[in-house]
Amino acid sequence: MSIDKTLKIRLKDYHVEEIAPKVYKINEFNLSTMFVIVGEKSAMVIDCGTGVGDFKAVVERLTEGKPYSLYITHAHVDHVGGREQFEEMHMSEKDVPIIKDVTVSYRKSYIDVMRYLMGFKVIRKRDAVIKKVEKEPKLVFVKEGDVIDLGGKIIKVFEVPGHTLGSLAFLDETDRIIFTGDDINPNTLLFLKHSTTVEELYETLLKIKNIEGYDTIWASHLSAPVSKEVFENGIKCAEKISKRRNGFPMIAMTGYNKYVIIHLSHRRRKKKIK
Ligand SMILES: [Zn+2]
Repeated sequence: MSIDKTLKIRLKDYHVEEIAPKVYKINEFNLSTMFVIVGEKSAMVIDCGTGVGDFKAVVERLTEGKPYSLYITHAHVDHVGGREQFEEMHMSEKDVPIIKDVTVSYRKSYIDVMRYLMGFKVIRKRDAVIKKVEKEPKLVFVKEGDVIDLGGKIIKVFEVPGHTLGSLAFLDETDRIIFTGDDINPNTLLFLKHSTTVEELYETLLKIKNIEGYDTIWASHLSAPVSKEVFENGIKCAEKISKRRNGFPMIAMTGYNKYVIIHLSHRRRKKKIK
């Protein structure tokens, strides 16, 4: 799975690709991926990136004057950094404690890390416009089972704890696409402060696998959809971690068939996966 380098249309230097009719994937200079789904009445923006340029101008070009609302898959720096450009942000209440960590200095250090990880194929800090969030958007909480009607496109909300406790997936029933944020990534980061145990991620992988109504899985940060094989690999990987004894407290990498979970060796419930 390679990093997103697609170039179909350039808007404000963001790379935009139409992945289904009126469904757009936007590559934020290889820092993050956002999606815009445009219905007949209104539009939905999924994630707002690290916040290094005029993302709102891109959204307004794609939505052609229709009202739009921002929803986030989770509250990490590369998904809520650009929130200043939006008046409201729809999210899970469980990820609220993470938002305060997403400061200007954190956003800058995220660019440093990504430039290193991506072989410098990422925007330079001096080219990024990183504004302080002067006014926080109003938070609107969404939960499992909520339905968003964009007019001709119906989106359903699922709670998918794992990468963060309040991670959300959005199922576009009309286009049969599920957007899973950073939860079903072949490199799943589970060692972060607000991540769940591997057993909870296991439950989430099973849950998403069994959701009906999609053919395509779009995770953030990737250049192509994730294949359904990801579930078997992720589930096997989680089982492998859960079956181990408690180890020395450290960050560990465990892989199964190209699916890697980076986790804390000691963060585990007493009950193991059977
Ligand atoms: Zn994340």
